[in-house]
Amino acid sequence: MTEPEVASLRQLPAVATVLATAEAAVLVERHGRVATTDAIRQAIDGAREALRAAPSQAPGAIEIAQQAQQLLEARAPGLRPLFNLTGTVLHTNLGRAVLAEAAIDAAVDAMRHAVALEYDLADGARGERDDHLRRLLCELTGAEDATVVNNNAAAVLLCLNTFALGREAVVSRGELIEIGGAFRMPDIMARAGARMIEVGTTNRTHPADYAGALNERSGMVLKVHTSNYRIEGFTADVGARELAALAATAGVPLLHDLGSGSLVDLSRYGLAKEPTVGEAVADGAPLVTFSGDKLLGGPQAGFIVGRRALIQQLNRNPLKRALRVDKLRLAAIEATLKLYRDPDRLAQRLPTLRWLARSKADIEAQARRLQAVVAARLGDAFVVEVGDCRSQVGSGALPADTLASAALVIRSRGSQVALERLAAALRLLPRPVIGRLAEGALRLDLRCLDEAEEALLPDALAGLDPDDLAAPRP
Ligand SMILES: *Cc1c(COP(=O)(O)O)cnc(C)c1O
Repeated sequence: MTEPEVASLRQLPAVATVLATAEAAVLVERHGRVATTDAIRQAIDGAREALRAAPSQAPGAIEIAQQAQQLLEARAPGLRPLFNLTGTVLHTNLGRAVLAEAAIDAAVDAMRHAVALEYDLADGARGERDDHLRRLLCELTGAEDATVVNNNAAAVLLCLNTFALGREAVVSRGELIEIGGAFRMPDIMARAGARMIEVGTTNRTHPADYAGALNERSGMVLKVHTSNYRIEGFTADVGARELAALAATAGVPLLHDLGSGSLVDLSRYGLAKEPTVGEAVADGAPLVTFSGDKLLGGPQAGFIVGRRALIQQLNRNPLKRALRVDKLRLAAIEATLKLYRDPDRLAQRLPTLRWLARSKADIEAQARRLQAVVAARLGDAFVVEVGDCRSQVGSGALPADTLASAALVIRSRGSQVALERLAAALRLLPRPVIGRLAEGALRLDLRCLDEAEEALLPDALAGLDPDDLAAPRP
């Protein structure tokens, strides 16, 4: 090693020196002494490596503290809030529905205080945890009875296990769905202990196909909403009403898995029509299942509504206990469902619906308001324009219907690599900004950016270093 190299290595500050800076004191307050010391040590090690590779001026204590801060923030919890500017409203990887304020307040109350979870206040005796929701769900869907479990996958599992354990479950080949994250109908059936009987073909299934498969070994018939794909062309399927009747003659229940399952007719808000839970109940399916955090706009949950005798059988299955929902979510679900009693104000109060119903003109105006400040934050290496794009509902709802929207369209004046680096830098911000990288542009679809959050976006982008984006440090 040459003398100047050794000299600059010697100039590296000691851990104790960095810890004594005001910058490090803030970090100790925020992250604790152990984690901060650890990060400082890591920053010093990094600086030492860099000096050995390319001798230069050694960083000072404050600079090391700043590097430690970056290291600590990069380790920040994965569940920190981010800006979902992907244009997918119900993004499964980003946590699906964002809750209504009323639901948040209810969950917070349930966290902070004791609640009558399984306690009947009228007579001071033990109560049922589903009771809080049963009445609301029946009122909103027209069903006789209802129960709730961890998610819709659990709802389907519980139904199959209760009615088709060691028996046959009949399903059309056109409805053997896979939902992201390894929910595949054949696998769920196997785990539930049911023997899957496939009928019909991929594109056409007829009443006679079901009738031919029903016998004394049958436990249940399934109708699955093909939520994330659509079969078009020469097709035929059997409607739920006819299928419910067919199943009833064989003495088995029909389970109609709606997936997203909306509680209101979405065409009322200018969206394409998705089958409502009420319609599925009215069509005669004795069991209907749907998700809490898709179009319904609540927390993760799986609802099962239908005939009382069947719901009671579900509640007696020991698996129900393993799949049950905690008090926080029950509180949030109850508050969310209550919003549905007032459909006129639903689109203001429920973020999912508010965002789905936003007009392109509104989003475009917002993009114009933000264009200049975002361009300034990104620096000269990028061009920021306002452009058209299409948003998606997400979570498999209305797969073929996209929504006209507007985006900040970011292009690199230099290489495509620079754009990818920008996308990565946005993901690593303290409050990450997630857009969609496609066709040589990074699109920030503003559909899910509420006006109240709008001002926070420029603040978040202030964490970027335009010089670094233009010509990254080696
Ligand atoms: C989404 C979906 C499921 C799974 O629901 P989760 O709430 O994600 O568990 C099951 N069936 C259908 C048809 C779906 O669309």
